[in-house]
Amino acid sequence: MEYQLKILVTLILFVISACSSLNKPPPFTDSLAYKNNRSVISIPVRIHLLKSNVSRDITAVISSEELEEMFNVVNLIWKQAGIKYETESITYLNAYKDEQYSEALSKTSNLTPQQKNRAMNKVCNITKKSDRVLNLCVIGKTVRGLGGIYFGGRSPKVIWPTITPYGRTKLNPATLAHEFGHYLGLKHNSEEDIYLMRGRGNNMRRNGQYEYILFTKREITSSRKVAMKLFNE
Ligand SMILES: [Zn+2]
Repeated sequence: MEYQLKILVTLILFVISACSSLNKPPPFTDSLAYKNNRSVISIPVRIHLLKSNVSRDITAVISSEELEEMFNVVNLIWKQAGIKYETESITYLNAYKDEQYSEALSKTSNLTPQQKNRAMNKVCNITKKSDRVLNLCVIGKTVRGLGGIYFGGRSPKVIWPTITPYGRTKLNPATLAHEFGHYLGLKHNSEEDIYLMRGRGNNMRRNGQYEYILFTKREITSSRKVAMKLFNE
C-alpha cells in the first residue's frame, strides 16, 4: 500500500512539474522579439507633387484623401516590420527639364532605358537634401510603365506614378511600399509572389491582396537597422 502511495505521489509531482513547464515562456526567438519587444520606427515622408505646363502626363493628379488611403495601406504592409511612414509635408514641385522628360515618355522615343531613367530622375529635381526625411516624388507617368522606382545617390528618392499602364484610377500602394523597401536597402528576393520585395511578376500584391503581403525575417531585421540609422539616430 505504501508503495502504491509513493507511486501516486510521484505521478502527481510529475503532472505538476509537467504543467509548470507548460507555463514557462517559450524560448526567446527573433520573431517573438519582434512581436513583443520591438518599438515602432517612424519615418517622415516629404511628398513632392510634380507639376508641369508642358505635358499632362508629367503632372501628378492625386487628392490628399487618396494619398492618405495609399499611406494607410503602405503602413498596413509595413506593420509587421514595425515601421511607420508619416507624412511630413505635401508640396508642389515644378518639373525640371519637362521637354526632355516628355520626349522620354513618348512611344517613338529612341532613348535607351537608362537614358529614360535618367530623364525621370532629373524631372523630379529635389535639391534640398535632408537625411531625416524620405523624399517621395509623385509624378504623372513613369517611363517604361514602371510601378515606381528608387534612386539612390546623394539625394535618394522614390518616384511613384499616378497614371499607371492600367489607367489613372488604378493606384497601387504595394508598389509604393516596395520602393520604400529599396530606400531602406532591401533588394529583390526570389520568394513567393506575395512577398513585398519579390522582383518581377508580383501579381498577387498587384491585385490588391495587401493584408497578405510578407517580408522575410532577414528583411525585417535589415530594414529596421537602416531605418534606425537614417531616421532615428
Ligand atoms: Zn524593385
